[in-house]
Amino acid sequence: MNILITNDDGIHAGGLFMLKKALEPLGRVTVIAPDRQRSASGHSITLHKPLRVERVKLPDGDFGYATNGTPSDCVSLGVLDIVEGGVDLVVAGINKGPNLGWDLTYSGTVCAAMEGVVVGAQAFAVSVNNFENEIGFDAAADFSAFIAEVLVRNKLPESVLLNINVPGLPAEEITGIEVTRQGKRHYAGKLEKRTDPMGRTYYWLGGDGPLDRLEDGTDVKAIAEGRVSVTPIHLDLTGYSALDIVKSWGIESFKISR
Ligand code: MN
Repeated sequence: MNILITNDDGIHAGGLFMLKKALEPLGRVTVIAPDRQRSASGHSITLHKPLRVERVKLPDGDFGYATNGTPSDCVSLGVLDIVEGGVDLVVAGINKGPNLGWDLTYSGTVCAAMEGVVVGAQAFAVSVNNFENEIGFDAAADFSAFIAEVLVRNKLPESVLLNINVPGLPAEEITGIEVTRQGKRHYAGKLEKRTDPMGRTYYWLGGDGPLDRLEDGTDVKAIAEGRVSVTPIHLDLTGYSALDIVKSWGIESFKISR
């Protein structure tokens, strides 16, 4: 099995290396990651400047590839050139910090897994609900190896990836594993407006802690209660329940005249 590992926290992130060590026994692992922090870069790709790739020595002495591109670029680089013989599985993570609810389309981690689906591979993203330190990576690495093995025997449906979140807890404090739906989490917008030494206004986009709706069966609630969440995510973002409503507005009979 050819496994491509990437992330959005950068080639030197601890979670990326932990993932490499966990998946190595399962196949041929290639690490291609951004050369810097790229969190919250979403599904962006690089079209207006050259993509550079450099071989980088990883902590175990193996080589990985660092690029000035985005997480999604890493998947393209792997599939189109670097990985020989095709990519079977794309794994993105282990991200420092959760990717829950409405985080998904901001997330470079989840969107790298989406790109994996786009190129026809099986794919999952894995994140730990912990920004503070790296204690949570052990459990997430262990669970990632298990899921990778599951995906050898079971094929995800077309256009679907798995978004996995692991509580930022030692393994013995994790209370279970739940297959969930995507919940609702958003951040109350907060904008710091400041003045630079030249007298010009600048902004910092931030926010307070996330606002979660703790609905049963969601990723948000599972993590809040100390369970691992495994959410199948479909790339078809159509709001099916809204199709008839929008049709009922009669907009299809408008005559476009210029
Ligand atoms: Mn990140």
